[in-house]
Amino acid sequence: MTTISNNIVAIQQKIANASQAAQRVDEVQLLAVSKTKPVALIKQAFLQGLTHFGENYVQESVEKILQIKDDKEFDRPLTWYFIGPLQSNKTRPVAENFDWVQSVDRLKIAQRLDQQRPEHLPAINICLQVNISGESSKSGTTLSEVMELAEQVQDLPRLKLRGIMAIPEKSDNPDVIKQQFKALELIYKQLQQQYSDIDTLSMGMSGDLESAIECGSTMVRIGTDIFGAR
Ligand SMILES: *Cc1c(COP(=O)(O)O)cnc(C)c1O
Repeated sequence: MTTISNNIVAIQQKIANASQAAQRVDEVQLLAVSKTKPVALIKQAFLQGLTHFGENYVQESVEKILQIKDDKEFDRPLTWYFIGPLQSNKTRPVAENFDWVQSVDRLKIAQRLDQQRPEHLPAINICLQVNISGESSKSGTTLSEVMELAEQVQDLPRLKLRGIMAIPEKSDNPDVIKQQFKALELIYKQLQQQYSDIDTLSMGMSGDLESAIECGSTMVRIGTDIFGAR
C-alpha cells in the first residue's frame, strides 16, 4: 500500500471511532483536501475509494479538474468542493467547474455564482462560511449576519443552500475550539429549522476532527493527514 492509502485507512478509522463515541455512526463524510497536491496523488486517493475533493486555488484547481476529466483511470465521477477564499472576479470558473462552494461569505459572491452557473448543470451547492472566532484576519460572515445572508442565498435559483463551513481559531486550548464548534452547531440547527435542504455542517480538519464530530460535524475536511504536509 502507498503512504496515501495507509493514511486514508487511518483517517477513516479515526472518523469511525469518533462517530461511534458520539453515537453518530455513518453521519460524517470525509472531504479530501487536495490543494497544492498533483493529480497523481489525487489518483491514489481515488483508487483508495475517495471521490470527494476540496480545493482552494481557482486556477490550480480548474487545471486539475479538467485534466482528471480527460483521464480514463478516473472511471467514476468526482465531486469537487471549492473551500478557499473567493474573489468576485474569479467566480466564473468556479461556477462552471465545481459542484459545491463552501466559502461563500457575502452576497456579491453568491449573486455572481448564481448568474454564472451554466444552465446544463444542476444548481451549485452552497455552504456559508462563518467567521466563528471573530478574528478580522479570517474570512467568513459574522455570526450576526449569517441568517440574513442565508435568506438572500435561499432566493437565488441556481444556488442550493446546504449548510455552513468554518475554520476555528488556532488555539492550544481544546475547550476554546470546542466552544466554537458548539456555537456553529447552534447556527446549523437554526438554519435546519428554517430551510429544507440543510444537511451539511462542515467543520473539523486534520488537527481537530474528533472534537468537531463530537459537536455534530457532518463533513470533515482533511488535507495534511491524507496527502502530507504542504
Ligand atoms: C487547507 C484546508 C483544510 C485542510 O487542512 P489540514 O489541516 O491540512 O487537514 C481544510 N479546510 C480548509 C478551508 C482549508 O483551507
